[in-house]
Amino acid sequence: MKILLTVNYLVDTDRDNFWDKKGYLIDEIDINLKKRFPQKMKLSDTVCGQRYSMTHKPIDYPNANLITCPICKRLLTDRKKPKPIEGLDNITELANVSICKSCAWQLERGVEIYGIENVIARFKE
Ligand SMILES: [Zn+2]
Repeated sequence: MKILLTVNYLVDTDRDNFWDKKGYLIDEIDINLKKRFPQKMKLSDTVCGQRYSMTHKPIDYPNANLITCPICKRLLTDRKKPKPIEGLDNITELANVSICKSCAWQLERGVEIYGIENVIARFKE
């Protein structure tokens, strides 16, 4: 069986800390990525993963399909709109507000009782 194992990391830094002026990874980043994600990775005595691809791209460009959960600040994307961002969780609508599934699940009852505005306001305090 072929299994594509995907792990996403969110890097929050200035562009120049990650890419050089030509758009290549700066040497320190390149070396550390190759060290931490080697060509072959032993996962058990019988299972070994082979690096298939490694991508890096900005996701916060103007008009990006990027939404921040107002409760937990997790980055999300809306798969019903153009250009959803691969690797981000889809939004969930709760009382017409886009939030993450985890917050929606935890807050569903509170929203029924107090309303979404009051629930969100509580997390901004
Ligand atoms: Zn959330």
